[in-house]
Amino acid sequence: MSTRVLVLNSGSSSVKYQLFDMRDNSRLAAGLVERIGERTSLVRHTPLAAGGRARERTGPVADHDAALKAMAGELAADGLGLDSPELAAIGHRVVHGGKRFTEPTVVDDRVCAEIERLIPVAPLHNPANLTGIRTARALRPDLPQVAVFDTAFHTTMPESAARYAIDVKTADEHRIRRYGFHGTSHAYVSRATADLLGKAPEEVNVIVLHLGNGASASAVRGGRCVDTSMGLTPLEGLVMGTRSGDMDPAVIFHLMRVGGMSADEIDTLLNKKSGLVGLCGDNDMREIRRRIDEGDERAKLAFDIYIHRLKKYIGAYYAVLGRVDAVAFTAGVGENAAPVREAAVAGLEGMGLAVDAERNAARGDGPRLISPEGARVAVAVVPTDEEMEIATQTYALVGKNN
Ligand code: ADP
Repeated sequence: MSTRVLVLNSGSSSVKYQLFDMRDNSRLAAGLVERIGERTSLVRHTPLAAGGRARERTGPVADHDAALKAMAGELAADGLGLDSPELAAIGHRVVHGGKRFTEPTVVDDRVCAEIERLIPVAPLHNPANLTGIRTARALRPDLPQVAVFDTAFHTTMPESAARYAIDVKTADEHRIRRYGFHGTSHAYVSRATADLLGKAPEEVNVIVLHLGNGASASAVRGGRCVDTSMGLTPLEGLVMGTRSGDMDPAVIFHLMRVGGMSADEIDTLLNKKSGLVGLCGDNDMREIRRRIDEGDERAKLAFDIYIHRLKKYIGAYYAVLGRVDAVAFTAGVGENAAPVREAAVAGLEGMGLAVDAERNAARGDGPRLISPEGARVAVAVVPTDEEMEIATQTYALVGKNN
């Protein structure tokens, strides 16, 4: 029986992978190839099944084809090669699936062409994702390959949440609408939160706060996404590590007309030099907290702006959902930064939201409640696992044919 699934996350200069055994959802191996195309590419592979130590080497890895061959070689060295009959499928992370891809999809030439057609709305991500898919298909043409889209979970948003209030004809002509991202994480975390409450996903309404370097919020009613904070691109919504999130679009015209900046310069400004890094020079929440503890005013203001926006989204999604059973914090900041969780719900007792100081400060690996006993709304820390979710969705699609 084929029960293994390889998950590939192919970026422009890196490939990350994890190999799962879906009989018990265990991780057999994990690794990455970084700085593809440079002389100092890094290949790191950890044979998790054997409890082995990570193997690392640096040297030139010319392109994605060479990167996947390096990965295949590492897996083969552990007896987990791509030619193994136990490999059921490869699951690929694809950032943008537009309106067309509402579910994980078995890849064929037509699907590749569709992903390519979406490049204008995802110029940074889809080309690299597609390269990963094409390279993997060339390596194992007979093996089912599944595309799992970051946008898919959000395709259930009603038109009232997905449309911008701009001229409909212009919007449709250019496929301008709110797609949302991090969907694989929002799907996984909203389900895991229901699990933590001992309920089925259909029974609960959850606000998921995915706070990593990129950050997004979603409102999930009965297992279906009804609103999310990222839009046409990941720039909209929360204050992020390097992205501004929401602002008056007229800022852009002002920077063009008065600041003399080009579209590309403004793109870089808002995506790479804004958010926490633009406000205080640091995007790592650990460093920002350290500076606040030392009395740094700029770091404090950056933190306050970050929290203010986060709180506004909690309130907005509370109103969108009407009834909220849980607020779940996830990703690097959400899972680790207790002061962010505390500040985000401070003063929201009237909405039934609070954190218990001791529970919030306690460290832990798995999903856990941080709200006080008997709270009206559960507040939880729920570690995300996008790779596991991709493996699960991939196996659900192809595993039943084995
Ligand atoms: P992404 O996948 O978007 O790159 P992650 O979800 O890995 O991001 O989150 C990375 C961010 O998490 C870091 O930039 C940092 O701000 C934050 N982070 C990680 N560990 C901690 C920690 N122990 N305390 C506070 N913040 C942390």
